[in-house]
Amino acid sequence: MPSCPRCHQSILATAVTCSNCNLELKAHGHPGIDLHRSQGDAYLCDSCSYHQDDTCTFPQRPLATTCTLYQDVQTLQQRPLSAAEIYTIPWWRKYSGWLVLAILLLLSVLLVVL
Ligand code: SF4
Ligand SMILES: [Zn+2]
Repeated sequence: MPSCPRCHQSILATAVTCSNCNLELKAHGHPGIDLHRSQGDAYLCDSCSYHQDDTCTFPQRPLATTCTLYQDVQTLQQRPLSAAEIYTIPWWRKYSGWLVLAILLLLSVLLVVL
């Protein structure tokens, strides 16, 4: 069971605010939108993948202490690779239609010339 980051009281995973200290746990009062909080003096952006790949456009970057889009770069790096990332299609299979067409054209030209 998760606990409140401020008072460490056990809370429900869907709780919008902490029942003990009233800390906001979800963004916009919606139980489906997680509100990530920084720990101690560190800023969330320091360990966020959107900061590292320079795709974040939030105005609070790089000094965000709360954020709905935060994505820990370390958990992202531990994610298993998808099949599309592991398997790359060889060039000759990607262009097999054009290769067959080129061979047919070459054979046609050879038949006409010879
Ligand atoms: S998504 Fe949030 S935590 Fe990540 S870089 Fe942007 S503002 Fe910072
Ligand atoms: Zn609390």
